[in-house]
Amino acid sequence: MKPNEVTFTLHGLPVSGGIAIGHAHLVSHAMLDVAHYAIQPRKVDDEVQRLARAFDTVRAELAELRSSLTADSAEARGELLAFIDLHSMILDDPLLLDEACAFVRERRCNAEWAVKRQMDRLVEQFEEIEDPYLRSRSADVVQVVERVIKALSGKRARLSTRRRDTDSIIVAHDLSPADTIQFKAQRIAAFVTDLGGATSHTAIVARSLAIPALVGMHHARSLIQDDDMLIVDGLRGVLIINPDDCILDEYRLRAREIEIERSKLKRLAGGAATTLDGEDVQLYANIELPQDVDQVREVEADGIGLFRTEFMFLNRDSLPDEDEQFEAYRSVVQAMKGKPVTLRTLDIGADKALRGAERSEANPALGLRAIRYCLAEPRMFVTQLRAILRASHYGRVRILLPMVAFQHEIESALAMIALARQQLREAGRKYDERVEIGAMVEIPAAALALGTLMNHFNFLSIGTNDLIQYTLAIDRADEAVAYLYDPLHPSVLRLVQQCIQQAKRAGMPIAVCGEMAGEPQFTRLLLGMGLRQFSMHPSQLLEVKREVLRCDCGDVAPRVIKLLRSDDPMRIREQLERINAGSTPVQ
Ligand code: PEP
Ligand code: MG
Repeated sequence: MKPNEVTFTLHGLPVSGGIAIGHAHLVSHAMLDVAHYAIQPRKVDDEVQRLARAFDTVRAELAELRSSLTADSAEARGELLAFIDLHSMILDDPLLLDEACAFVRERRCNAEWAVKRQMDRLVEQFEEIEDPYLRSRSADVVQVVERVIKALSGKRARLSTRRRDTDSIIVAHDLSPADTIQFKAQRIAAFVTDLGGATSHTAIVARSLAIPALVGMHHARSLIQDDDMLIVDGLRGVLIINPDDCILDEYRLRAREIEIERSKLKRLAGGAATTLDGEDVQLYANIELPQDVDQVREVEADGIGLFRTEFMFLNRDSLPDEDEQFEAYRSVVQAMKGKPVTLRTLDIGADKALRGAERSEANPALGLRAIRYCLAEPRMFVTQLRAILRASHYGRVRILLPMVAFQHEIESALAMIALARQQLREAGRKYDERVEIGAMVEIPAAALALGTLMNHFNFLSIGTNDLIQYTLAIDRADEAVAYLYDPLHPSVLRLVQQCIQQAKRAGMPIAVCGEMAGEPQFTRLLLGMGLRQFSMHPSQLLEVKREVLRCDCGDVAPRVIKLLRSDDPMRIREQLERINAGSTPVQ
């Protein structure tokens, strides 16, 4: 802790556990949400000059930084100089300024938009580099462009010599799922945001990164400064700013304990997930990008229960074509070596908008999303279906349709799948005729009329994140109503249980793939409802497996039935605590 720094704490929603100790890296809101507007033809030259001036300002900032270096060791000074040189080199690279200026002229757009777009292109190119060190340097391009955008806004970037690196804690007002997914390539320690709910897609991506994350912090972005020392306690939802040495020691100790606990859990990988009374349970993984499959293999999941394919479509100017998609899906299918891979068709819309297709809807979560979006864009949908079917030739593929609720939607979606098959046959492409088609149960209407889905599909998967959002009428991404988001609400529990029981009676395979499936506090509850297939982020799988191994379904099931009869939220919580503690029920 430096002199004159005050220690203080902020509280938010813990969305991904663990402890991170590192330095704040403020992500400018302007940077993530750069405005796009047209420039009048006669003002284009002025705009180009404005951009060039911003580059000059940043050049001057870097020069000032270089002359202000007072590092105490020659080694540290050398490192900092190398860092400044690299940033100066990026700044002077014609690929950045010249291309951005050309874009301003060509498209008559504002300078911020042009330079951000050029940055995105360069980052995309970096991501294709094999060498992990060079690939991670895309973070430097981002940092340089952040400085340029700050300069364009007339603000001065703080003269920080800290590289965004493995101890960086991102502090942002808000992060979209598209922003967050980029951190997969950047290796950061944690992130905190002012906005966001616990099952927002941003939070889900944080869990898949297996880094601590807090959302709904309200004022973190305005109270924290770049480079502040931070502790993120992802379990308790606490953020400590400028901790003193005593607090730091305490948290370092806790972080080590968590590390030890995690390495013990690793021993559970492999081996069946069978309950004490011999019930076999399947534990599948949720992934967002093809590279996540490495984590899936580490924990030896039984397969992939949910591949959120839409993440491959974000952060880019053009959609991946059929061959690019096919290669990505095939790589996952082959890596899973015959274990099932459930590819969910695009769940685009709402918070996961395609670049350039952002719509200003009053209620995006109730709008054109998921299967609705795909049916409105048949060419895009059939292209994806062909790519998925082609990948089925290389392993065991299942297709999962998101957000279905209407008979006509089901019929249209199945007709599209039939069309994709026919096109492949005509083109002489190979695919597996036995590919199973399933539906997500995430709208209360679908849960209440489950027969409609069961008549048409081979398997079901309950998306509790959306099922809760739509049952309780709570926008899952809105922190203002996050306190109402409750998986233990009696109506939610009954819907989930009814679906599991009804599917089981009909012999229809059913899984839960929402966040509930990955929370160990709900494992016994779901087992007691009769669930035997869980799908969650690989980072959560071994903890859930430990709960499965400790559970006696014969003992838990009647207690869960009793809990489900209650309308009293306090009593439900109390009973669940007892079930989890393994103690006798309250009479
Ligand atoms: C869900 O809604 O529970 C789900 C798994 O889908 P997503 O979180 O991607 O909306
Ligand atoms: Mg969903």
